[in-house]
Amino acid sequence: MYGWMGIILRVDLTSGKIEKEPLSDRLRLNYLGGRGINSRILYDSVGPEVDALSPENTLIFGTGTVVGTIAPSAGRITVTAKSPLTGILGDGNSGGHFSAEMKWAGYDHIVFTGKADRPVYLWIENDHVELRPAEHLWGKTTAETDEEIHRELGDPAIKIAAIGPGGENLVRYASVMFENCHAVGRTGMGAVMGSKNLKAVAVRGTKGVKVAHPGPFMRLSRNLHERIINSPVYKGLAHYGTPYFTVGMYRSGWLAIKNAQTNEWPDVLKLGHKVLKRDYFVKELACTSCPRHCNQAWVVRGGPYTGTHGAKIEYGAIAPFGAGCLISDFGAVAKMNSLCDDYGLDLIELGITLNTVMEWYDRGLITKDDTDGVDIIWGNAEAAIELIHKVARREGFGNLLAEGPLRAAEQIGRGADKYIALHSKGMTYGIDDIRAMKGYALNIATSTRGADHLRGMPGLEMIPQASTPEMLERRFGTTEAGIASSYKKAPLVVYTQNLCTLTDCLELCKYNTEFQGEAMNIEDLAGLFSLATGIEMDEKAMSTVAERIYAVEKAFLVREGMTRKDDIVGGKWGSEPIVGGPAAGERIHPEKFDKLLDEYYQLRGWDSMGIPTTSTLSALGLEDIAEEIRTKSQ
Ligand code: SF4
Repeated sequence: MYGWMGIILRVDLTSGKIEKEPLSDRLRLNYLGGRGINSRILYDSVGPEVDALSPENTLIFGTGTVVGTIAPSAGRITVTAKSPLTGILGDGNSGGHFSAEMKWAGYDHIVFTGKADRPVYLWIENDHVELRPAEHLWGKTTAETDEEIHRELGDPAIKIAAIGPGGENLVRYASVMFENCHAVGRTGMGAVMGSKNLKAVAVRGTKGVKVAHPGPFMRLSRNLHERIINSPVYKGLAHYGTPYFTVGMYRSGWLAIKNAQTNEWPDVLKLGHKVLKRDYFVKELACTSCPRHCNQAWVVRGGPYTGTHGAKIEYGAIAPFGAGCLISDFGAVAKMNSLCDDYGLDLIELGITLNTVMEWYDRGLITKDDTDGVDIIWGNAEAAIELIHKVARREGFGNLLAEGPLRAAEQIGRGADKYIALHSKGMTYGIDDIRAMKGYALNIATSTRGADHLRGMPGLEMIPQASTPEMLERRFGTTEAGIASSYKKAPLVVYTQNLCTLTDCLELCKYNTEFQGEAMNIEDLAGLFSLATGIEMDEKAMSTVAERIYAVEKAFLVREGMTRKDDIVGGKWGSEPIVGGPAAGERIHPEKFDKLLDEYYQLRGWDSMGIPTTSTLSALGLEDIAEEIRTKSQ
């Protein structure tokens, strides 16, 4: 077999039984790999009756079809399970080097079921697979766990995925940390690991990946590496990482400040990429086979957080912890990022939680009596840090915040929910102000894992230099696809969601694709897939696969009772306009957005309730799902 290793590893944590199962033609040809196969396995094994934190949930690690090869950034991994945060399909995607190591050990996917009766970790060394005791690791941070397992197994080349106290304590947005700096952050996959008493997965592999046409595959890969290096956003991301976005988003008026009460705050410049490079930078690091090396290792060299360090810092931390909380000390924000890595917490969901808590406190909805005496006023970094500790340990007020902002608001009552900036399907994302970017807003509403950028943020509407009017007209039927405020976005969003789906199947990095206005598109992915596997697929065939996967994920949501009423821009961004900054006055117009949603459903072949029709599902070869959905909607 070319491309795939051909094996799914099944680990029953209840019985301790480990089995190797051939990867079926049905899965690999219809769902390709990574997120696609993960989503189908989840659909087949976890129904509405299953609680996300029960042993009946299934947890899946999936590498991709070209992972372990020299294709650009072919080293991502998707972890999938029912989400304890949203109650629907959950997944997260990480970079680093674990995925390639897992593939080189001989496995495309690992499927965990059941629950171990005590903490364990899985150790894989090529064909040797065993569950080992992890009581001595329970309570340790992800960095300590990584260090201890390396010491125990005695090989520095081992790659480790681990949870920290956040996952152990079932924080609903706990992350899984790979090599203690790359996160599967969103949707709470760390809590699912914790609920199964699975502390870590350690892997070492020395097998190679065979590709069907090595010469042409190498030529295409080299060509793509060159195109990435010569693309418009390359330099910014390569030399500054995602912190490069902070000032640019702010200058466009697209960065939410002070829990999105305004988009104007000049102090944001203190959190910019140039400050990172000048005062905190150590060196640039790359994930497997990536020409972009966007990870910026950093250290705090002065002030109260001196010595705190990390292998990368994300815009996803700087935006909510800095701009969202009005904390302008880069060192404090870096410290918060580092705590999230150590505890294993999703910095986006936690960041939005802190933004919202500060507004509740400011407005008197909660007081020091509620916060265990923590004075959580705007800009108070020490107070925010104290709450992070409390969340990870589920201590006092932190126990409530560990449930996520939506559940916390429900418990607080008194209209607390109306201060949450943006949510959809149980997850929040109040960082990029999507009120000014209508395609982005549509992606948030229709994302199959809740409010999130990585399902299909259409970079082409945000980065003018990434397209031409002719290209937009030809591919999306209108030059307005490249104008952020235009509602003519349905084809662009469907395309970008399909591109992201396929990128997650091959397990490449979205930052090197048109998602970010960059080099690789679906045609390129089709080329890599065909040359790697020897199975010819063109852009159209690949897009059909993406439609199939998106339909399966959507069907999972429908089976959980979700319909059009859940495809929303929820929270205050659904009704209030932007205040302050260049995009002031931009808002989501309800009627125009409704029309856009109709257009989107039509392109997807879904009915007016957002449910894939029987004929759409049948055309995608999903007759079994069509039958189930038809019964459900009757
Ligand atoms: S672009 Fe950055 S995050 Fe993505 S694979 Fe490359 S180094 Fe990793």
